[in-house]
Amino acid sequence: TALMRAVLRRVPAVSGARLSDEGTETPALVFDADAVEHNCARLREVMTPFEGAVSARPHVKSHKCPALARRQLELSGGTCKGICAQKVCEAEAMAAGGVRDILLSNQVVSAPKLARLAALAASGCAVSVLVDDADQVRFASAAASSAHTTLGVLVEVDVGQRRCGVATVPEAVALAKLATAMPGLEFRGVQCYHGAAQHIRDYEARKAAIDGVAGIARACVAQLTAAGLPCATVTGGGSGTFEFEAASGAFTEVQPGSSVVWDRDYSDNLGPDGKRIELDLDDPRVVAAVAASGGGADAVAAVADEMLPKVRDRVLLAPGHCDPTCNLHDFALWARGDVVEEVMEISARSPGL
Ligand code: PLP
Ligand code: MN
Repeated sequence: TALMRAVLRRVPAVSGARLSDEGTETPALVFDADAVEHNCARLREVMTPFEGAVSARPHVKSHKCPALARRQLELSGGTCKGICAQKVCEAEAMAAGGVRDILLSNQVVSAPKLARLAALAASGCAVSVLVDDADQVRFASAAASSAHTTLGVLVEVDVGQRRCGVATVPEAVALAKLATAMPGLEFRGVQCYHGAAQHIRDYEARKAAIDGVAGIARACVAQLTAAGLPCATVTGGGSGTFEFEAASGAFTEVQPGSSVVWDRDYSDNLGPDGKRIELDLDDPRVVAAVAASGGGADAVAAVADEMLPKVRDRVLLAPGHCDPTCNLHDFALWARGDVVEEVMEISARSPGL
């Protein structure tokens, strides 16, 4: 009912409100405008040496917000080609929000989901999807053909995470051949993403893990090329490692997600100087960047006695992990300092469809 919708999707504040206003409801998800703009400029800066060779395709599963995705594409300049989404509902929400180039960086199996993906492609959005199995190639081909459209296909290669991806380079070549032969598909390259490497704390160890990944990516490209299959895209890399993939010479595209909003977990990674890649805590309103998950939507923060908030005090918490935190909210407040400049819908959130 309308009433239930109103209750379930209450907006915590409207544009022009202040975070410190009593009328601003909590818990509210806040995107710190200055920090996001800084992070986007930083992405552009890190990618500048690789301009023309490597582009960025930010992963939106970390925030699930089309308005923020559009802002990233604007603010990061020419380095961003499009976005990655992890689920079909994310891809649909992003397309509805005006994003026109989407890599679904995951395997899609069910016929209804593949039909939705093909419908997105038919609507004029550039859509690619990953495969690591011959049947997926056939199913994707059938979906694209019935929608009279083309789906891009990238073969995912397991580069050490043991989550998805073919285990060997010859298997990758076989799938690429199949994808090239099937109607409705365009073979576009390979994904070599190593998720477990993102949170290796030590900088040199993190870098070394990606040396191994880049070696596999190079072997893939060499064998695909030898088989007459040009590999236009080699994609991978998250917020913890993308600078290494970009510098390796083996990749054409990187997929940092969390880097636009950052979180406590990533701030525990060490930089080249051996120091933590800390959140910027010179904002005195941030009393706790130590929010650990207390289970579900709760958070437990360690706070010094003299900083203990009083009843009805408002505190800003940096989430332990941005992805599940954003997934709990219908709206985010885009705030500059204390002032809410815009209310953004987290329309790509969902239980999984
Ligand atoms: N690319 C893929 C395929 C992923 O699965 C992820 C995260 O799991 C990312 C990119 C981006 O990760 P992060 O938010 O850690 O940068
Ligand atoms: Mn994450």
